[in-house]
Amino acid sequence: MQFTRLRLSGFKSFVDPTELVIEKGLTGVVGPNGCGKSNLLEALRWVMGETSPKSMRGTGMEDVIFAGTDSRNARHFAEVTLTIDNGARRAPAAFNEFELLEISRRIQREAGSTYRVNGKETRARDVQILFADTGTGANSPALVRQGQIGQLINAKPKARRLILEEAAGIAGLHSRRHEAELR
Ligand code: ATP
Ligand code: MG
Repeated sequence: MQFTRLRLSGFKSFVDPTELVIEKGLTGVVGPNGCGKSNLLEALRWVMGETSPKSMRGTGMEDVIFAGTDSRNARHFAEVTLTIDNGARRAPAAFNEFELLEISRRIQREAGSTYRVNGKETRARDVQILFADTGTGANSPALVRQGQIGQLINAKPKARRLILEEAAGIAGLHSRRHEAELR
């Protein structure tokens, strides 16, 4: 599955609708300190189902909503949409009829997050499983945050095992077992 487009609106410093086209191959994002490079990667993690506000550098999840500046009012919601080329049909069965997958997550103040896949409201868990199965996802070792290498080196054995399991591609199985146990 190839990520092809990321759209943000009201997300952190990206107050105005912003669209990023992700071409095949290597993409670099450059810019001065504080211009929003890390915010972009956080948007990617967030739309894939990130649940920890702390790992988004906030105290509550609503902190991802544009908080306002001297010249601009705060926003009431944030939305991120990720477009995926599913031409190779690698998505889980429930989503595999689609050539293109558009996953979006929206958070509104005091109303929490809602997810949509191609316009249809979807549970957070199903979005997380969609990505866990494809070796990506909010906690994928493919996404390395600033300072995370140091954390990995200092991690306790159990935390390090989780990272290895994700890398080995069995995290999706854990998600499913958890799901089965809840039923
Ligand atoms: P560096 O090169 O230092 O790593 P960066 O390009 O990664 O910088 P980010 O950390 O992505 O920069 O962006 C930080 C900016 O985003 C800060 O100016 C901060 O005020 C702004 N920001 C973060 N959250 C919000 C929010 N909720 N509302 C408005 N602005 C925000
Ligand atoms: Mg940064």
